[in-house]
Amino acid sequence: MIRLSGAEVAKSRQVGLRAEIDHFSGLCGRPPGLAVVIVGHDPASQVYVRNKVKTTLALGMRSFHFEMPEAITESELISKVEELNHDPEIDGILVQLPLPKHIRSDIVLETIRPDKDPDGLTIGNLGLLFAGRARVAPCTPWGVIAILEHYKIPIAGRHAVVVGRSNIVGKPMAQLLLLANATVTICHSRSQDLPSLTRQGEIVVVAAGQARFLGREAFSKGAVVVDVGMHRPETGDFAGKLCGDVRFEELEGWAAAATPVPGGVGPMTIQMLMENTLHLAKGLLAKS
Ligand code: NAP
Repeated sequence: MIRLSGAEVAKSRQVGLRAEIDHFSGLCGRPPGLAVVIVGHDPASQVYVRNKVKTTLALGMRSFHFEMPEAITESELISKVEELNHDPEIDGILVQLPLPKHIRSDIVLETIRPDKDPDGLTIGNLGLLFAGRARVAPCTPWGVIAILEHYKIPIAGRHAVVVGRSNIVGKPMAQLLLLANATVTICHSRSQDLPSLTRQGEIVVVAAGQARFLGREAFSKGAVVVDVGMHRPETGDFAGKLCGDVRFEELEGWAAAATPVPGGVGPMTIQMLMENTLHLAKGLLAKS
C-alpha cells in the first residue's frame, strides 16, 4: 500500500511557492499578507492559528494576527473584518472557526471580500467553484486533489465516493472530483448501508467527522482511501492521540493507497491556504 504523505507533498510544493512569493514581493514592493482573526481561547483553534502564522512567516509572507475577546459582539467582529477588507497590505482574511455560539459564523464569513477569501468559503467563491470557474477552492478538498495528482493517481473516469456533505469539505470535494471527470457519489448520515456504497468507490474520501468508524470492510480491494477526519479522542485506545475517520492500520495489504492521520490531509490544508493567499494577492495586484 502506498502511504499518501500530505506532509511530503506540502514540503515539495513549498520550494516553488517560496520562490513565487519572493518574486511577488520584488514586483509589488511588499510580500503577500494574510490576516488571521481568532475569537476566544479554544485550545485547538489556537494550535491551528499558531501553525498558520508560523507557515506564513516561514514562506516569506506577512502575517497579521488578531486575537479578539470571547465576548466580542457579532457586529464588532464584522467591523473588524470590514476594516481588513479595506487594508491594502492584506490579501487574505481568515476567520478561525468555530466562533462562539452568540456569533453567526455564516454572516461573519460572508463579510469577507471574496477576492480576499483564501479559504474559498464565501458564497461568491463557492458559486464560482460550482459553476466550474473557481477563483480559489476550499483548502482541504483542494489539498486532497493535490495529493492525488502528486502521486499520479488517475481521477478521470473513476468512481469516487465522498462520505460527508459539509460546505467546507464534502460538497466542494465532490465538485472538485467532478471537475476532474470522476463519477461521483456523495454519502451522508442518512445514506443507507454506507459500506455497500463506499465499497463501490475506486477513490473514497472520508470526511464524516466520526473517529475511526470505517475499516477494511468498507473499501474494495485496491481502493484509494483519503481520510480527512481529524480527532483527538478523550477515551479509548486513541485517548489523547490524533486519529482520523478510518482505521488506517486495517488497510495495509488491502488498499492500493491511503492517507495516514497525522501526516495526511492535514498539512495540505495549510499549504493550500498559503497557495490560495498568493493567488489572491496576484489577482488584487492585477486589479490595482
Ligand atoms: P461536519 O460539518 O460535521 O460534516 C460531517 C458530514 O459527515 C455531514 O455531511 C454528515 O452528514 C456526514 N456524516 C456524519 N456521520 C456520518 C455517518 N455515520 N455516515 C455517513 N455520513 C456521516 O464535518 P466537516 O467540517 O466536513 O469535517 C469532517 C471531518 O474532517 C472532521 O473530522 C474534521 O475535523 C475534519 N477536517 C479536517 C481538516 C484537515 O485539515 N484535515 C479540515 C477540515 C475538517 P449529514 O450532512 O447528514 O449530517
